[in-house]
This record gives sequence, structure tokens and C-alpha cells, in this order.
Amino acid sequence: MKTFVTKNCPVDLLPFEKSTPALIEEQVAQSLREGCDEPFLICNLGDVIQKYKRWVQLLPRVKPFYAVKCNDDLAVLKVLADCGANFDCASKNEIQKVLSLDINADRIIYANPCKQASMLKYAAKHDVEMMTFDNEAELHKVKALYPQAKLVLRILPPSNFKVQCELGIKFGCHPSKALPLLQTAQALGLNVMGVSFHVGSGCAEAGAFDVAIQQARQVFDLAVEMGFDMSLLDIGGGYPGTDNAPITFSEIAEVINVALDKYFPEDSNIEVIAEPGRYMIASAITIGVNIIAKRIVARDQHGENGELMDAPTMSDEPAIMYYVNDGVYGSFNCVLFDHQVVSACSLKSSKDEMTYESSIWGPTCDGIDCIMQTVQLPMHDVGEWFYFEDMGAYTVSAASTFNGMDGPARKYYYCLQSDWQQKLPQPVKAAVGIPIKKVPAMKTGHSLKDTYLSSSLIEDQSSSFNE
Ligand code: PLP
Repeated sequence: MKTFVTKNCPVDLLPFEKSTPALIEEQVAQSLREGCDEPFLICNLGDVIQKYKRWVQLLPRVKPFYAVKCNDDLAVLKVLADCGANFDCASKNEIQKVLSLDINADRIIYANPCKQASMLKYAAKHDVEMMTFDNEAELHKVKALYPQAKLVLRILPPSNFKVQCELGIKFGCHPSKALPLLQTAQALGLNVMGVSFHVGSGCAEAGAFDVAIQQARQVFDLAVEMGFDMSLLDIGGGYPGTDNAPITFSEIAEVINVALDKYFPEDSNIEVIAEPGRYMIASAITIGVNIIAKRIVARDQHGENGELMDAPTMSDEPAIMYYVNDGVYGSFNCVLFDHQVVSACSLKSSKDEMTYESSIWGPTCDGIDCIMQTVQLPMHDVGEWFYFEDMGAYTVSAASTFNGMDGPARKYYYCLQSDWQQKLPQPVKAAVGIPIKKVPAMKTGHSLKDTYLSSSLIEDQSSSFNE
């Protein structure tokens, strides 16, 4: 059975769970039928729905604003919007994309402390009021272009915790420097209403959140003392997105809940939001790549003058170099930029077949374009496929077309029927200080629909596209 998540985007609704290899085999068969050897992507929208539900269960006080930069796929954004998520946008294009889904501007935080002036004007024009800052120049820019903005001061997170990608080297005002910044904001008559931080993406130690929330409280108190009407805490991103992460989401959630109760108890009426990216999407996407070429190299062979005759490896055994049609300039940019370690899967069972030391290379002419330097794999022929799981976060959204190579040509969306049914619109509370606006119902028949914002409207549209 099929439905549509957006107008042009079909979703296969599955009555029963199918394994990833089975789904990949189907896609490979489809590629063969179409005579297509391009990489493809499969996206389990049910995984996104389950992640959202788990967030609400484990962090009931924290409203998620999905970080669009992590994966800006329209179908993913739509499903999250339907579930009730809000959005963290970092640019005009991201804001535009979210607004194109009929999402109210009060469900967006412009979470980029250094904004291009024209993009800030765009935010002003479209009433995206909530935004972060961490420096004085930004305050002057906001004063000139959007003085009514609701400002959230981004502070530096503690630096002594392990993370996959540190962000504090680029953003965040040290808590000890908050006073002069707040004084400038006050002198300019600006509306500072919150504090935010980002502990770093792929946080491996939950304690980082405890310390950061405590520091946020101190800056909060300072701002309140100065007379700002403080109503928002934004605990940023950093949550793990896959089962093999060094720490689980529930471990982090536990620490956050305790810290919130201690420093921002529920009766303080502070709205708490977060900007999860990786958590929501990392595990939902698998990418299939075609083997376009292959070389067998005899390891560590030297010529007459001692020069290396072929690509060096750790042993004398022959090794296989596979060349596939997506690489570090494409979806696998995560290997370089996001410090991800990806893992190749084969449709051949390594239990039944002999395996060989192998390396996997992308399609461009650059030597850096290596996806995996060493992996034991059964022997494959040119034209066969590998697939990589957990490829949802910081992959396709940061891919280039270097050397004229495109990323996944075909996207296949699927969802367990039972998961799809759980994609119920949640009551969307308007962001801080803004009353929920009623929107006229597009279609009659659903009494809840004029109380809730865009998600329910889109549900209407998608159901009318059902096949
Ligand atoms: N918020 C901001 C401002 C970010 O820069 C990022 C990632 O870089 C995120 C949220 C999402 O972080 P994560 O994917 O670790 O949850």
C-alpha cells in the first residue's frame, strides 16, 4: 500500500517489518530492471516517528526543534512536522524549506549566532522571531534589521567532555563574558529572552549537559537580575542517533531531567527546547552504492630499487580495492567532516564465503576519496552493490557534486503501517510568548484540526493523495 508524505513523495506502507538486506535486494532488483547503476537511498520514516515518540517519552519537558542542517530531506521534515516537532534553521534556505510546509514561523528558531544580513531581513519579513546570538556585532545587526527579535544568548559549553564534533571552538559566549553582552543588548533596547548552548555533536558524556544546564542557570539569573524577561532555555543538540554510539539517549535524558528539575524546576515556568539533529535521523537512512571498478593489488611488493609497486597494506596478501559511485565528496563527506566511521555491508554472507582484506574508494579522482581503508569482505564483482546503514545524519545534506558526481539518484521511503498510524499530530504549543494562532480548517471533518497548526493540514493533503 502506498501513501504520500508530500505531494510528489510516495511512501510504501509495509504491513510487516522487512529486513534491511531484503529491502536493499528489492532496490537492487529495481535498479537492474531500470538498467540503472546510480547509488540509491532508502529511508525508514517509521524510524523517525519512533525516535520522535521516544523523545517525547524520555524528555517530556523538552520541546524538540529539529536541526534541519542535519538532513533537510523534505519528506523527513514533513513527517517530523506532522509529529509535532519544531525546527532549528541556520539559513534563509532552511527557513524557506520549513515554511514551504505551511509551518508557522513561531515553530522555528533561527539558531545561527552569526547571520548574513539579508537572511536576517528574510527572517524579519517572515516573522521568524526567535534567534540566537553570541557576540556584540550581531546585536548591532539585529538592532538595525530586526529590533523586535526574541534573542537567545548562546553560551560556551564546558570543554572537558568527549564529543564527536566540537562546536565551542566556533560559537558561544563564555559565561563570564555574558554581562557586557547583556549590557549592550540592554543599551540597545533589545529583547533577550533565553539562553542556549550546544555541548557538541555526538556527545559521549552525559555530564556535559549537567554542567551546561548549571552554567545556563547562572547566566539566566544574571539576565533576570538585569531586568530581562527570561522565559526560554535551549539545550541544543548532541544526542546520539544510533545504537552503537558511546552513550545511549536514555542515559543522556536521565541526566538532563535531573539537571532541569534542579536548575529549572517545572514551576519556574521556563520553556525548555532542544535542537536535536543526529538523534532524529541518523539511523533512518541506508545508502546503496554500486561497485564501478575494482583492482586486486599484491601487497607490499617492491620493485628493483625498493620502490613500492602497488598500494601499501598491512600484509603480503592480495587485497581488493573497490571503487563505488558515492564517496567523501558526496554522501560520505561525513567521514571527513563529521568524523563518522562508516561500515560496509554486503548482500553476500561473510559466514559462507571467504573474505578478503579490502578497501572502498569513492568515484572522484582525488586520493582522499576513501570511504573505508580496511575491511574484510567477501569477493565482489564490478556491478554488484554494497550498502551502508546509519547514513542519515550529516551525509546527503552536505554532499557536493565534485567531479560531476551526483549522490543517490533514487530515494525510496517506507514505513511500517503501525508506525505511520502513530504519526498523529501532537498538540503544537506555540513557541514562547506567542499565543497559538488558529488557522482556518482546510477541510471539514476533523474537529481538532483548527486548534493545531500545519501538521494536521498536511495529513489532510497526504490522505487525499492515497492510492
Ligand atoms: N544546533 C546547532 C546550532 C548546531 O550547530 C547543530 C549541529 O551542528 C545542531 C543543533 C544539531 O546537533 P546534533 O546533530 O548533534 O543533535
